[in-house]
Amino acid sequence: MAVRMEVPRRRLALVTVALALGACSDDEATPTTTDDGTEPGPAASGTIAPDASDPGATSGSPGTSGTASAPPATPRDSPATTTGTDPPPLTDAPTTTAAPDGEAIELGRSVDGRPITVIRRGTPGGTAIVAVGAIHGDEDAGVAIIDELRRVPVPDGIELWLVPSMNPDGQAADVRQNVNGVDLNRNFPENWSPLGEPGVWQYAGPSAASEPETQAMLALSERVQPQLTLWYHQDLFRINPATGLDGEIRRRYASLTGLPIVEVTGGVYTGTASQWSRTIAADGGIGFTIELGSSLGQRGARRHAAAVLTVAGELT
Ligand SMILES: [Zn+2]
Repeated sequence: MAVRMEVPRRRLALVTVALALGACSDDEATPTTTDDGTEPGPAASGTIAPDASDPGATSGSPGTSGTASAPPATPRDSPATTTGTDPPPLTDAPTTTAAPDGEAIELGRSVDGRPITVIRRGTPGGTAIVAVGAIHGDEDAGVAIIDELRRVPVPDGIELWLVPSMNPDGQAADVRQNVNGVDLNRNFPENWSPLGEPGVWQYAGPSAASEPETQAMLALSERVQPQLTLWYHQDLFRINPATGLDGEIRRRYASLTGLPIVEVTGGVYTGTASQWSRTIAADGGIGFTIELGSSLGQRGARRHAAAVLTVAGELT
């Protein structure tokens, strides 16, 4: 049961970690190594549809690999149930009360009415970090990292905003998109462009932020203004390179978790969550995709959770 969100308007470091279990047709490449806990993906048969949700800083190239071939993810059976329940008017919420520590707060509802929640932890007003366990429904290994972050002590000065899944409908159906067949990682308002149509794996939706799931994340980030947002995907086993402070943070996270820094290619990367998440804080903020392997054991989840806290501490 979620509590209505009343996030203070001050600056929080949101580390949006998109965690995803399974096979992500979203980022790319074929995993190679095995890091304890994070196993490289089962070399997705032939077509790994990369989904570098993150090309932003690297000028992602439409790649060579599984380009246009549509990955498994097909839109949900009920194509357009536009019964979207209106997400709670987060932005109208009072700005004075801090959200309770460790409690689930409802940010909004999915197209099918499932709650999209966030758990706030740590120092109110500290460096805001948003971590998102799953954005593609069939890539939800990252949820285990969120679960771990809900349990461990949070060092002083850090405020975590943990979103287990921004695509609960897709997760329930084990598909990439939401119920409207929209690839939520192409639906964000930064650099959004029409792409595909219902039934196409990268369908960007009828307009920028057209989906209630996307709107829920916009409302959260507008209020929290995270300094770091982490988006978890699967299962390309890599982190896209970048330059500047963003690049440094990525390399640090990669070295802590055993993921290689390798470019993700093979898709069209407009309207991605990670690009957008670099624009929300006053000074831009940092946001990137973490491509886990095909599975993530308990050890792997702990290792990633520790990396989130380490990186967050270094930003503080
Ligand atoms: Zn993905």
